[in-house]
Amino acid sequence: MFRFWQADSKSNLLKQITTTLIRTGGSLIGLIQTIFGSIFDLLFPLKCMQCQKLIAKTNQKNSADYPVDYKADKNFSENLFKNYFCPECIAQSYEPFKPPFCKRCGKKFQHNFTQNHFCEDCLKGSNVIRKVRAGARYTGIVKESIHFFKYQKKLALARPLEKIIFKGLIEYFKPPEIDVIIPVPLHASKLRQRGFNQSFLVVKNFKKMLEKNNIFSQLEIDLDSLKRVKKTGSQTNFSPEQRKENVKNAFKVVKSERIKDKKILLVDDVYTTGATSMEAAAELLNSGALSVDVLVIAVV
Ligand SMILES: [Zn+2]
Ligand SMILES: [Zn+2]
Repeated sequence: MFRFWQADSKSNLLKQITTTLIRTGGSLIGLIQTIFGSIFDLLFPLKCMQCQKLIAKTNQKNSADYPVDYKADKNFSENLFKNYFCPECIAQSYEPFKPPFCKRCGKKFQHNFTQNHFCEDCLKGSNVIRKVRAGARYTGIVKESIHFFKYQKKLALARPLEKIIFKGLIEYFKPPEIDVIIPVPLHASKLRQRGFNQSFLVVKNFKKMLEKNNIFSQLEIDLDSLKRVKKTGSQTNFSPEQRKENVKNAFKVVKSERIKDKKILLVDDVYTTGATSMEAAAELLNSGALSVDVLVIAVV
């Protein structure tokens, strides 16, 4: 690679420029890109988001653009995160979303059952969601990434996280099952404060990704029909009961003609107790939706 700061004299500099021109096939644009790439690398070396250790740059600018083998669990997270975290930080646990889990809420089971099984909560029948599925469990590198993404506005992480949630979609949903994707909306004031809706950012490329993988050609993303009308504080330190109370009547369908008779896939970042998703699902079902499923990046 041509490094202009290493050229010790004019003639040396000229020689290096000529060599680079030849290597890049005589393309001036190639040369300019190389020069700017080198300056950029020098000024902004890649650092691990978590521990700040310098990390080796891979050939491609964004490791999340690597061809993704959604069926392979081995190296799946390493490939997605290697331009954002060092190997040690990536090596924190990564747990794919895999059976055995509750057929409805996705809660992890310790034992494999031969038949489809519901957890105790879902057997009580209070969950109106048809099924909750995810790309991963909420732990290790996925949990850290969601925190960096959401609370520290590291928006570049939307790319690896979209691959994880997309894995959940293609593994657990088949085309006639869903018609419309609705990212769980934020209240207008929250959206202004955060500047983005994390649930939308991880699905905004879905149409392109689905086309590439040749499935779900009719799937629409609807950002207008469901609104969050109640300002709710953080749920983090609330009990399951308090969470339910906190989000009560938080959602309103404003375009019911677009919801009626539709099979909806609600998208959120994390599914914890499900209070938020269940409240949104209840509102969608009251407005005539045929069914509501939930897809998240990670289930606790
Ligand atoms: Zn690190
Ligand atoms: Zn359950």
